[in-house]
Amino acid sequence: MNGSDFKSLSEVLEKIRQTNSKLEKISKLGNFLKTLDDESLFAALRLLTSSTHPPWTNVELQVGYSTLTTLLLEISGISKKKFSEIYLKHGDLGDTAEEIIAQGKVIQPLVKEDLSIIKVFNILRKVAEYEGEGSYSFRKNALRELFINASPIEAKYLIKIITGELRIGLSEGLLEEALAYALNMSVSNLREKILLLPDIAEVSKKLRRNPNEEIELELLRPTSFMLAEPMSSAEEIANYFNKEIIAEFKYDGIRAQIHKKGDKVKIFSRRLDEISFYLPEIKSSIVKLKDDFILDSEIISFKQGKPVSFNILQRRLRRKEIDKELLEEIPLRAIVYDVLYYKGKIVYKLPLKERKVILTELDLKDNLELGFYKYVKNSLEISKLFEESLNKGFEGLMIKDPDSPYSPGKRGKAWIKLKKEFDTLDVVIVAAEYGHGKRAGVFSDYTFAVRNGDQLKIIGKAYSGLTDEEIEMMDKLLRSLCIEDLGYKIIVRPKVVLEVAFDSIQESDRHDSGFALRFPRIKRIRWDKSIEEIDTLDRVKEIYSRKRASFA
Ligand code: AMP
Repeated sequence: MNGSDFKSLSEVLEKIRQTNSKLEKISKLGNFLKTLDDESLFAALRLLTSSTHPPWTNVELQVGYSTLTTLLLEISGISKKKFSEIYLKHGDLGDTAEEIIAQGKVIQPLVKEDLSIIKVFNILRKVAEYEGEGSYSFRKNALRELFINASPIEAKYLIKIITGELRIGLSEGLLEEALAYALNMSVSNLREKILLLPDIAEVSKKLRRNPNEEIELELLRPTSFMLAEPMSSAEEIANYFNKEIIAEFKYDGIRAQIHKKGDKVKIFSRRLDEISFYLPEIKSSIVKLKDDFILDSEIISFKQGKPVSFNILQRRLRRKEIDKELLEEIPLRAIVYDVLYYKGKIVYKLPLKERKVILTELDLKDNLELGFYKYVKNSLEISKLFEESLNKGFEGLMIKDPDSPYSPGKRGKAWIKLKKEFDTLDVVIVAAEYGHGKRAGVFSDYTFAVRNGDQLKIIGKAYSGLTDEEIEMMDKLLRSLCIEDLGYKIIVRPKVVLEVAFDSIQESDRHDSGFALRFPRIKRIRWDKSIEEIDTLDRVKEIYSRKRASFA
């Protein structure tokens, strides 16, 4: 046995789970990662993030609870009734697998093999890559090989890795701190690199090879998007900057990072998935342009001179086939507002005012255009432009510091958002109940939560705001994410992010966050946001105290 056994990794994870001290978690995991050779470290980081491939390759482990349950039943030979009893006792599939395997009735392989981290990773990678005919049985056989060779604790952590639960328990921040500890470097330095190259395993590989290796942007590989902070009024923004600033319309569309290298074009979403397939008309206009570049943009669609709603727009991103009809029904435009790389040069570190000049050299045409912007000096000018943006059917303004670089992945005050309905929260669905009337039998009443450190805290429930089509799709999706069935209610894996609007926030002991939203309604499903990006309990408290102050 050595550190690169999957058993050692499982035991470390178990110890981490048992301690509440963040420092202890970091040093335990950091010390363990330190012992691994380069290849095992790479594989361990992939497993710890429940990803077999970089996020932008769109290759995912598609193994759900039902496949795993069937597999556990098959290899252990226990009855469904017994299985349910064990599951109900734990409420967790990983713990259930541990208990079942510990009973010792599992089919034995001809020759029992120790599982190494690399072996587990390679098998899961093959499972994710396998496509086409017979893929279900291929996956099941490959997983079977893993589970019949697994000890109880290994089975438990295999499940947690495969279902993505580990990712929730072991936050990204903690993993970065542990890796920084293992590589003997500062967390902020490591984080910078991961923001530029958003793949912790790939970054670790480069740094192990050479701790001083410069990590830079690369064409056709996405980098994190720069993010904005909200402010509540034109006055607050003008006072904060106290200088001439850039104001841009805030388009309510789909954020897109556009890469062009020769005749290759790749377009990435905010979650770093490649979405080029869904945007053929944008792709073909981009390919006609001369030079190589990386752009930041918003994809929107106009109907009779007004932007169409985000919900309609989203339809373009959820279709398996983009037919002519859809292309005509929802024609897309890319509004370009930033440039990170141009003609062989990395330009994201230049001040925004210089990047804006570079953008004019691009010669955008057809369905590509430059985003509107204007230099403004005071709150009056900001307010005027804000009104103009709303009149045109846009969402508000983005105010940007003309002297700021583009900071991948950073949410700071160099970019500020000013929205009409700025009191919306991004939350994650944690449970769902059956609706009433025509929604009886359909999981359509959603309980949602915000983030507080590594925990999720419930803040409200909502059932209004989605279309019938969306409700039907959500019902299916939530059933597939079910981790506990309470009859009238299901507890689901926290995956689906909603943007909810509300009238106010109250203190309340109804939910474990200590707050409740008044009249919450769903503005839209945020497919583009992940659980890491939902709002925090601190933001809830901030809105709560701001509102109280304004009524006082
Ligand atoms: P929010 O989604 O409300 O957090 O607001 C930030 C989002 O606004 C960004 O992620 C972009 O998708 C979008 N956006 C629209 N117009 C702009 C713009 N001119 N500059 C930057 N982001 C924009």
